[in-house]
Amino acid sequence: MSSSIDEHIAHIRASLPSSVKLIAVSKQVPAEMIRLAYNAGIRDFGESRIQEAASKQAQLQDLSDITWHLIGHLQSNKAKKALELFEWIHSVDNLKLAQRLNQLAQQLGFTPKVCLQVKILPDPQKSGWTVPELLADLGELNQCQFLQIQGLMTIPPLGLTEAEILDVFNSTHDLAKRIQLQNLPNIQMRELSMGMSGDYQLAVQAGATMVRLGTILFGDRH
Ligand SMILES: *Cc1c(COP(=O)(O)O)cnc(C)c1O
Repeated sequence: MSSSIDEHIAHIRASLPSSVKLIAVSKQVPAEMIRLAYNAGIRDFGESRIQEAASKQAQLQDLSDITWHLIGHLQSNKAKKALELFEWIHSVDNLKLAQRLNQLAQQLGFTPKVCLQVKILPDPQKSGWTVPELLADLGELNQCQFLQIQGLMTIPPLGLTEAEILDVFNSTHDLAKRIQLQNLPNIQMRELSMGMSGDYQLAVQAGATMVRLGTILFGDRH
């Protein structure tokens, strides 16, 4: 098992430009498997659920140089726990949540790195800002000075062709450039968190700086 993880990781790492951060999505993956991935060189892990992440982090406390990324939808009532557990939150998906995180970050003395989750195409299954909504909220997001807003995160809707997926990723990149041009001092657009096991090559082609890979590293979750 360990050699198969090693090989997967080496193979995928080699297929990515060195500037692209590989985040191993370890939701539903047991702590022992995360440890194997760590031993194969992975230092960034993505989790979707607060409780699950808390329990695995407790089992992996000795691996003190892991960076934990929250990639799943975050409910406001779990925002404090999220700040305690995660250095990165990719799934900040509405203004209220951003403001709540900002307030808590100030109180707790944290400065979390966050991505703003956008929906380029309508998708009832996903949370996130639409493009016009995000543009309208930028002024208020810029006032969330305890958040380090680093860029955008997106997940294309299911059922698109490759060309359509590439369009979504390119549009996300264009949106980031457009936001950058506004020169808002508290909003950086240096990161594009996009690409999962099925579409990460397209994401990299469109300028992804962080890919979130689960299945292709750890196998099927179900
Ligand atoms: C589960 C998940 C991933 C990883 O998906 P795979 O297809 O297994 O690579 C990436 N991003 C988010 C937001 C996820 O929920």
